Amino acid sequence: VTGSSRGIGAAIAKALAREGWPVGVNYRSDAEGAEAVVKEITDAGGRAVAVQADISDLDAADTLFKRLEEELGPVLVLVNNAGVRADGLSPQIDDEDWAKVIDTNLSAAFRLTRRALRPMIRGRFGRVVNIASIVGAERANPGQANYAASKAGLVAMTKTVAAEVARRGVTVNAVAPGLIETDMTEDIGDGLLQHVPARRAGTPDDVAACVRFLVSQDAGYVTGVCLTVDGGLTA
Ligand code: NAP
Repeated sequence: VTGSSRGIGAAIAKALAREGWPVGVNYRSDAEGAEAVVKEITDAGGRAVAVQADISDLDAADTLFKRLEEELGPVLVLVNNAGVRADGLSPQIDDEDWAKVIDTNLSAAFRLTRRALRPMIRGRFGRVVNIASIVGAERANPGQANYAASKAGLVAMTKTVAAEVARRGVTVNAVAPGLIETDMTEDIGDGLLQHVPARRAGTPDDVAACVRFLVSQDAGYVTGVCLTVDGGLTA
């Protein structure tokens, strides 16, 4: 699970561990957070290792997979969760902020997916889940042209790759969260919340539950979908 030192990724890592999966807890800088997630999993009887890698590095996919294959065995599930924002109205988004968001949220997810697929196809089983966002397609959020483009690209990639590998027993899906309470959204005021029919922000566990389903054996015939989890915001 990329970016699982905190927030939604941490909840996904713990949910998958509860299902019996050994989990690679990837992080970029928050070693303490990642170790805390690993400890919570191992204290509960599960298996997990923390693996540092900045997924926007070109060689990160190989480094990560080699380490996980050595320590935990073949990687049967990939959750592309790590994501960043660099908001600004379009005239103010510079090339660096455009590239940073596209590189991390989209290009890195592609490289990790590409690396994950070969052994999944050989083994005739695999699950890829990409964490997108409702701003990718369903609800525009002014100030997030780079972020929205990255998430729309992620959903398009999800559907295309899903169609490519469906006959090999590998599913590829996306989850599109609405407003979820994490560090990423702590600067977002109550304005958006007023529009959420559920009258509350989502929790990381709300998102993790969807991922847990998509990864399960029960979801074997679900592929190429984007599951929205937003308390009705885009209904
Ligand atoms: P968060 O609290 O900001 O956590 C982001 C996580 O990603 C951290 O663990 C961070 O690791 C990691 N990360 C960032 N850049 C990385 C990189 N280059 N390489 C490796 N790890 C990296 O974010 P969140 O709210 O949990 O969001 C998780 C995902 O859900 C993102 O893709 C986000 O776009 C999506 N999402 C969130 C919301 C929401 O309302 N929160 C809504 C829709 C979609 P370090 O701390 O170690 O840097």
